[in-house]
Amino acid sequence: MIKIVMICDICKKEYFTQAVKKPSEIKITQVSRQVIFLTEQTEGRSTKPHFSAETFDACPECTTLALKGKAIYGAGAQGHNRYWFKDADATDSEARRVMEEDNARKQSP
Ligand SMILES: [Zn+2]
Repeated sequence: MIKIVMICDICKKEYFTQAVKKPSEIKITQVSRQVIFLTEQTEGRSTKPHFSAETFDACPECTTLALKGKAIYGAGAQGHNRYWFKDADATDSEARRVMEEDNARKQSP
């Protein structure tokens, strides 16, 4: 038995589990969404915010928030991306913090 656990890439909550007998039974639906990306995706360097179609897992709650107009932000490189909502009252410091954490992680051995 293989247990599938889906974790939301935005809020990190487990939102779906499924037990299957063999890999061919796994049914995972990922969707592609436009997110506001804050880094270029080769080296992860800061760049002008731009739209990017990203495929990731999102729980129903986060999907609903996105559909209600909350923008999803993204940062990262080489497929190691992080996604988050920018709250209406938040500043860009949140995005900067995320990018600084990513850079610190890349520089550590
Ligand atoms: Zn979520």
